[in-house]
Amino acid sequence: MALRHDWTKEEILEIYNKPLMELLYEAATVHRKHHDPNTVQVSTLLSIKTGGCPEDCGYCPQAARYHTDLEGNDLMSVNQVKAQALRAKEAGSSRVCMGAAWRNVRDGEEFDNVLEMVRTINKLDMEVCCTLGMITENQAQRLAEAGLYAYNHNLDTSEEYYKEVISTRGYEDRLKTIDNVRKTNVTVCSGGIIGMGESEEDRAGMLVALATLNPQPESVPINALVAVEGTPMEEQEPVPIWDMIRMVATTRIVMPETQVRLSAGRTQMSREGQAMCFFAGANSIFAGDKLLTTPNPDVAEDMEMFKMLGLNPQKAFAKKSKPESVEAENSRFTSKGEKPKWTRPDHTIDRNLQAHQKAKTKA
Ligand code: SF4
Repeated sequence: MALRHDWTKEEILEIYNKPLMELLYEAATVHRKHHDPNTVQVSTLLSIKTGGCPEDCGYCPQAARYHTDLEGNDLMSVNQVKAQALRAKEAGSSRVCMGAAWRNVRDGEEFDNVLEMVRTINKLDMEVCCTLGMITENQAQRLAEAGLYAYNHNLDTSEEYYKEVISTRGYEDRLKTIDNVRKTNVTVCSGGIIGMGESEEDRAGMLVALATLNPQPESVPINALVAVEGTPMEEQEPVPIWDMIRMVATTRIVMPETQVRLSAGRTQMSREGQAMCFFAGANSIFAGDKLLTTPNPDVAEDMEMFKMLGLNPQKAFAKKSKPESVEAENSRFTSKGEKPKWTRPDHTIDRNLQAHQKAKTKA
């Protein structure tokens, strides 16, 4: 059956609110048609530049304007990244995702170093993903040429609720970056976070935005908010496991070929809860004891869970062949010294302003 790109919010809400057993059965059936249900892709997320971000994402401890206990660091060296990637590979990861707390990529030495990191990890026969903020088409081309496998840029939530989470750039900026990535052979990873105070309509709205992209993202991370002290969302209650299961199952049904990734929030989930998510169609996780800055289960614990559930880690390049890496000196693309343009929405968010104010008093 051809993939649908015309999902409506009403249809998605109807799926999300089905009796749970029916929803699980339908999601598991779709999952089995498109994937091996016993294989789960394992990624390691590496924070290559931590903290000091100028954006005001309400969930993020890396935003400079909030007061969290986060220890920031400058961009890692290529050798440090290589060592970490080798460790991740040994522990069973097939993909390394490098995250930098940047609003957008700026052409120059730091970006050149990131391109070298991409080449280095690609040569280790691992899939390489980056999440670096907004990028231009030229920057996406340069990443593709270096051998990037995936680019992550989350939509976070619905377009409507986005205005309650971030005030420093618009939803359309997010879509523009995804569009720039789509102009290359790099795969798209884009998802969001639940538990930020959004409604079920917002959850469905985010899935509409993702599922109506053509092609749909190859990977969709579903995060449960980890409420970090000092951020505007520090008082949010943990999201119920049933909501996670429903969200995963619905994502699986509307995006059958996508890898649905269980992301942040796994430390708050029992193994039984995670097992239900795998049954509902999740087929990817982040491994490693840290997810950028928030806690994550230990790799050994995950491997024990895999053994118990009879799951196997997916091999690198199982879904798409390894991209070629062009060395810097042979590059067809030159740095244009450009800065992505983004919209400056003229709205403010009370809880973000309050968290900023509180941070100033603490400092
Ligand atoms: S989510 Fe990314 S863009 Fe937003 S504040 Fe955190 S590091 Fe910056």
